[in-house]
Amino acid sequence: MSTSCSGNCETCTSHSAEDPVCKVAEALCGVRHKVVVVSGKGGVGKSTVAVNLALALALDGLRVGVLDVDVHGPSVPKMLGAEDAKLLTDESGRIRPVEAMGLEVVSVGFLLERPDTPVVWRGPVKMGVIRQFLADVEWGGLDVLVVDCPPGTGDEPLSVCQLLAGSSPDGALVVTTPQQVAALDVSKSVSFCREVGIPVLGLVENMAGFVCPHCGKTTEVFSAGAGEELAARYGIPLLGRIPLDPLVCARGDAGRPFVAGDPGTPVALAFGKIVATLDFRKEGN
Ligand code: ADP
Repeated sequence: MSTSCSGNCETCTSHSAEDPVCKVAEALCGVRHKVVVVSGKGGVGKSTVAVNLALALALDGLRVGVLDVDVHGPSVPKMLGAEDAKLLTDESGRIRPVEAMGLEVVSVGFLLERPDTPVVWRGPVKMGVIRQFLADVEWGGLDVLVVDCPPGTGDEPLSVCQLLAGSSPDGALVVTTPQQVAALDVSKSVSFCREVGIPVLGLVENMAGFVCPHCGKTTEVFSAGAGEELAARYGIPLLGRIPLDPLVCARGDAGRPFVAGDPGTPVALAFGKIVATLDFRKEGN
């Protein structure tokens, strides 16, 4: 006989305590907005975008959480200067997020013995962690949860998105770089989101042009216009173009993300524009 859940989640239809999608919907029912950051492959700046977007939202006065379920590349703890933090559970066994730079953070990285410990887990263990991170975290009330999804379209991102799909996520931000090869991966990500029923909020073109710190001119290092072209092809908005800036990398490595310490720069302004477009501040929105 199946036990029924509390019925708090608005979207799931099963209301069965055993249904993992229902469990996730219940765990996230106090979170107003859920945004999944996806990319067709690693290295395009997905985590950089997730962390800086979260900080830009927090600077806008919102209560923001980051869920880093990038199982093999959990870089969020390092980027937020919280590499040594560990996850704790409360008396009922639910995971308590770590607080870092004003964000509530849960990351696979917090489970590792040392930051350089590789994740050598078989599929079922990875899936178990993904399920736990989505269903067993006590987020409290959040305005926005930014989910840093594993890259690609394989088993791990599929599980994350399928589990989230029943919680009325606002949608996915697809991160790409301007090269044609990365652009091909985006087409897969867009189709993937549509397949799993997660709306695509839009495209973020990262490393789009290098802003010279001396003269302020922008040099298109890779091919220009890829973001616009892809957004038009898939009928999705181009939410922002984040310039390539060596400081973004240096700040991430130093655990002091760009947006937090460098307001007014082209990168910070680009994130501000994305936050304004998403418009999560509005009550009832
Ligand atoms: P992913 O999550 O897609 O694997 P990361 O966010 O870890 O990618 O970024 C990969 C590397 O590129 C990191 O060293 C990061 O600091 C750097 N990086 C990302 N975006 C930018 C940017 N706009 N300018 C400069 N370096 C960047």
